Amino acid sequence: MINILFAATDDLWRDYESPLKRALEAAGVAANLRRDHGAEVTDYIIFGPGGPVDDFTPFTRCKAVLNLWAGVEKITQNKTLTQPLCRMVDPSLTNAMVEWVVGHTMRHHLGMDAHIHGQDGIWRNDVYPPIAADRPVTILGIGALGAACGQALHQLGFPVTGWSRSPKDIPNMRCLHGDDGLNTALSGAQIVVLLLPMTAQTENTLNAARLAMLAPGAFIINPGRGPLIDDAALLAALETGQVAHATLDVFRTEPLPQDHVFWGHPQITVTPHIAATTRPDTAARVIAENIAGHENGAPLQNRVDRGRGY
Ligand code: NAP
Repeated sequence: MINILFAATDDLWRDYESPLKRALEAAGVAANLRRDHGAEVTDYIIFGPGGPVDDFTPFTRCKAVLNLWAGVEKITQNKTLTQPLCRMVDPSLTNAMVEWVVGHTMRHHLGMDAHIHGQDGIWRNDVYPPIAADRPVTILGIGALGAACGQALHQLGFPVTGWSRSPKDIPNMRCLHGDDGLNTALSGAQIVVLLLPMTAQTENTLNAARLAMLAPGAFIINPGRGPLIDDAALLAALETGQVAHATLDVFRTEPLPQDHVFWGHPQITVTPHIAATTRPDTAARVIAENIAGHENGAPLQNRVDRGRGY
């Protein structure tokens, strides 16, 4: 029998207790899942932000910390964490992100706002969108989420360019990497989707110089992390029309303060970090199968490289 400590908030325990117990049983893991295991007897920690564990030092027997979220920037800053860390890669979360990105891409591509807000009796049939094949889309970050979004956008006919840290060869998209690759990826892009993790290297990836490389009137869609964009540069680019509209799901400060300039800005759409929320049933299966595999000698899945920060 292994001891699994659920170290997250009360709300998450309510959502996850039953799915985790079911998933552990289905994966054949004999486990005692509790919120109050002592550090010295804990074999695995299921971790969520805002939970009770800040200091991982006493967890000397712990074989892995399994994060409930895909983004790990908060926990990777914790210097007491020396145990292996796994991030969440969950098929439902990936599908949710694909739906959100495709939905917001199509909104901008089709110019839906003009019709939703323009029911004024005037028949303007001289303005219509290009077909997707004439609308280049660039995705910054082509890991689990960015690559899946790229495939869906390709299916719809968009020419997709993806950018990553290391060289990649992903079907149906032009894959670029490194600094030169970023310049090429952004040059002339009409829609840019940010799905990079938050690390020291990715902060302000979209700065003034890089926003200037986009096609005039480009659209920005950011479900990655707020600090990936230089906010002041974005506001300036919206002002000149270099960027037509930004759809932002993530922010430097969350919740986004009520008096923040982004709220109510006519060229910004704020969504409250809901692009892809972890779903308990499927996430519980991912965690249970990871523990089951590890107990049977397999390497941990979705391990975070602490050196890279993601
Ligand atoms: P992932 O699989 O780790 O992919 C990250 C991608 O970013 C990889 O392609 C990686 O390159 C690239 N990358 C990292 N650092 C880079 C750098 N310095 N330069 C260029 N490329 C770099 O992560 P994921 O699961 O797709 O998730 C991506 C992010 O989405 C998460 O970190 C999180 O911030 C965000 N997220 C948001 C929500 C939401 O609801 N808004 C939900 C889930 C996740 P390599 O391929 O070369 O490693």
